[in-house]
Amino acid sequence: MGRKVVWHRYDLRLRDNKALSEAGEEAVPVYIFDPEWLESELVSDSRIQFVFECLKDINRQYQVKDSRISLLYGDPVEELEKLNDRGYDVYFNKNANHFRQEMEEEVRNRFQGFSGDGVVRNKPGTRRKWDNNAKKYFRSKPPKIAESFDDNPVQNQVSLDEIGEKYSVRPEKKKFGPGGSEEAGNRLKSFLDNIEKYPSSISSPIKAEKNTSHLSPYIRYGCITRRQAYRHAKWRSKDSDQADRYKMFIDRLFWHLNFSQKIEDNPELFKESVNPVFRDLHRDKRDEKKIEAWKEGKTGYPLVDASMRALVRTGWINFRMRAMCATFFSYILKQWWKEGADFFYKHLIDADVAINYYQWQMHSGLVGVHKHRIYNPTKQVKDNDPRGEFIKKYVPELRPLSPEQIVKPWEMSEQEQRKTGVKIGKNYPEPIVNHEAETKKARKFFKAKKGSAHAAFKDDELWKKASLSPRHDRQKILEKASEQKSLKDY
Ligand SMILES: Cc1cc2nc3c(=O)[nH]c(=O)nc-3n(C[C@H](O)[C@H](O)[C@H](O)COP(=O)(O)OP(=O)(O)OC[C@H]3O[C@@H](n4cnc5c(N)ncnc54)[C@H](O)[C@@H]3O)c2cc1C
Repeated sequence: MGRKVVWHRYDLRLRDNKALSEAGEEAVPVYIFDPEWLESELVSDSRIQFVFECLKDINRQYQVKDSRISLLYGDPVEELEKLNDRGYDVYFNKNANHFRQEMEEEVRNRFQGFSGDGVVRNKPGTRRKWDNNAKKYFRSKPPKIAESFDDNPVQNQVSLDEIGEKYSVRPEKKKFGPGGSEEAGNRLKSFLDNIEKYPSSISSPIKAEKNTSHLSPYIRYGCITRRQAYRHAKWRSKDSDQADRYKMFIDRLFWHLNFSQKIEDNPELFKESVNPVFRDLHRDKRDEKKIEAWKEGKTGYPLVDASMRALVRTGWINFRMRAMCATFFSYILKQWWKEGADFFYKHLIDADVAINYYQWQMHSGLVGVHKHRIYNPTKQVKDNDPRGEFIKKYVPELRPLSPEQIVKPWEMSEQEQRKTGVKIGKNYPEPIVNHEAETKKARKFFKAKKGSAHAAFKDDELWKKASLSPRHDRQKILEKASEQKSLKDY
């Protein structure tokens, strides 16, 4: 039997790692820098830097166990083939949560893939008993790994410095925090120490910066697994009187698994809308000016602008602001969802193909079964940034405004504008669209399309691909199916 190469990619950890556990002490860990990833338009230098830090951390973990991780460079399938030709078996953890679906298929066919993440494979769209499976997975013990490993004989082909140099990696975002399992563990611990602040912080962009877990990039790169986070939270919650708060966190770990299931069932979900009725909606109405204003945080809506600037500057914003900016792009600016989703994906440090693209579809009304929640950015200021702290942090030109003025700066009188020095249309833009009017148009359109959107689910293949969670009852959806109504004027 040859030794076993363990190909790390979105599992940059030792513990709770099925492929590594199966390989035992003969494991030969490798990471492959894929030029296609490094050159992608959708990767920021800060995200590459985060991965560098994860790799340094995993290398330290291997060193403690007498091994190290080898850094290779090239097309992953070709590099793995070469190792296979040299007599190594190749082990890896299955994971469809990326853009290279053909590669995923190829490696699953050629090498030994393992399933240890709670995702149900080979039964696309069978979601009926999914919740029970998920619970079983979260409660189960992670597999054990070897006490120590044999020497790693595979030479490094590159160093992190060389990659950094070759691809001019210059992290441009405010430091997110070091990648790696050690930091993930520290974050989980300090977050749970303060869990009482969690519920009141989730929707507020300024409080969320401090009080949500910020584990998302660590989970994305596998520095910590959903199961590890779950088990630790469950253990901490035992003697706590904060059970409801722990539950909020645990629910989100389940949601996370739900999205990984969706991309396993529909690996194309990042390319086109799940529901064919909305395919290519707004695609031919590209408005460069509106898109640029949104990307640059110059829409004239202070909370949208602050959120977009925070996204670009830090690589992270909280759920509510992500949802608000996505609905603003799709329902209000009426631009093609994918362009907005790609922009998010590029800038988020936690960029996760399944969650990002599916959330975008849900927040653009494209699946056809979800409620249309079109967030109103002025109401959001009142509800979630009432003193304008977040806005003032990221949109400095609005700092002179009072909490009342900052909700709708365009309603300031000439005199107020003179007094504060904030001149609408000069040093801060007028709203680029009328939110209320655009919301009405969007609601009218989706109301007219509801019946046909539901009727699309008569198709068995589509139903499977949609991979809807068990709370969506197909029968009930089909009861609301009707013929397509055409709606001009959208
Ligand atoms: C348009 C849009 C795009 C998004 N893109 C991503 C993305 O690319 N990557 C990503 O990890 N999350 C994404 N989310 C979900 C959510 O906003 C982030 O997971 C969350 O803000 C991360 O912050 P946190 O780690 O402090 O979360 P916490 O509130 O501390 O939650 C704990 C963990 O649960 C998971 N989680 C939390 N909320 C969700 C959710 N709604 N869906 C699935 N998992 C969740 C995350 O792994 C998170 O780290 C997106 C949401 C929207 C609306």
